[in-house]
Amino acid sequence: MDEISKRTFLAAGLAATLPLSAPSLEARAAESGRKLGYAILGLGYYATQIIMPRFAECEHSKLVALVSGTPEKLTKFGEQYGIPESHRYSYETFDRIADNPDVDIVYVITPNSLHRVFTERAAKAGKHVMCEKPMATTSADAEAMIAACKKAGRKLMIGYRSRFQAHNIEAIKLAREGAFGPVRTVTTDHGFTIGDPTQWRLKRALSGGGSLMDIGIYSLNAARYLTGEEPVAVNAMESTDRSDIRFKEVEDIISFQLLFPSGAVANCFSTYSTNFNRYRVSGPKGWVELEPATSYQGQTMRAQLNRQTGPREPAAQPKNQFSAQLDHLSECILTGREPIVPGEEGLKDMRLIEAVYRAAREGRTVKV
Ligand code: NAD
Repeated sequence: MDEISKRTFLAAGLAATLPLSAPSLEARAAESGRKLGYAILGLGYYATQIIMPRFAECEHSKLVALVSGTPEKLTKFGEQYGIPESHRYSYETFDRIADNPDVDIVYVITPNSLHRVFTERAAKAGKHVMCEKPMATTSADAEAMIAACKKAGRKLMIGYRSRFQAHNIEAIKLAREGAFGPVRTVTTDHGFTIGDPTQWRLKRALSGGGSLMDIGIYSLNAARYLTGEEPVAVNAMESTDRSDIRFKEVEDIISFQLLFPSGAVANCFSTYSTNFNRYRVSGPKGWVELEPATSYQGQTMRAQLNRQTGPREPAAQPKNQFSAQLDHLSECILTGREPIVPGEEGLKDMRLIEAVYRAAREGRTVKV
């Protein structure tokens, strides 16, 4: 291991394994000895296959209620997770969750355009909210969601799970601590080949847009969390085959560039036409790259530091990214802190997504 890697590795220790404020946050949350209760709203793929099984590894969070428009799913997953009928809600009976003291947090995992209404209803019922990305389909909706949670005195966090993933935490640390000198470029590509033309992701009224809303948001969010800066200008170019039945309503390929105040530039891809998931952040003294970068699992990392190039392992993480994300909101509630990815973080992405679309539509640089 070269000197810089060794120093960075040693300095990393446990403190670097979680977001900066995490150790004391965790310790203080542990003092309470409480696990907060989550209601999962929307029992689709991500909720049932990815998130729900991860409560088993949580220290401060437990699954206590389900909300769905499909009675069969309530029965099936209610039985599987031991959720009593009194804690199973339809979208019509959902507001009664206000009377259920076991539920502290509602996790909204529906198609994007429904995030706002369910966040507002959850806040009105006096519950904290975890909401999936993209936070909404417009920045106006995102602002309304933040206002609703503020008015109710409840926390709002967006499901940006990569901020809790070991390799991403290491890349952020290297970039922000100047291991490569000042960050000059980020290149990041996110896409997958979308299938079923009837799915909600391809219907504008439910998705709010195409690949950028769903998968390109990972390129956008990564460019921001790697540089730690907010873009000041956006360029974009879109390419969509409108004769393809999948792309009647939403875009396919969108390529965009972000200019940051330091002069760093991010070159980002988003597409529904090919499978890729990676980024590289670089400066005059080296770079780090992840591939896959933001997938559910399997991240690999390479770095060039001190003129040596090779694989790099992140500091050990006590929890997988999903359990860490779930516990982070619980810990913030138990300790009175703000999440590292609050509603305002989702709003920043929404405003930039709108700027990217505008830049592509108008064929010009949009200042933000
Ligand atoms: P999905 O289609 O598998 O599930 C959506 C759920 O919403 C279904 O249970 C469906 O019945 C329900 N629903 C409620 N009202 C609906 C309506 N009017 N039309 C269609 N479905 C309706 O989708 P998913 O992949 O689970 O995505 C759900 C949300 O989670 C999206 O916002 C998506 O962006 C997000 N997501 C995040 C990640 C991540 O890694 N953070 C991964 C996948 C999905």
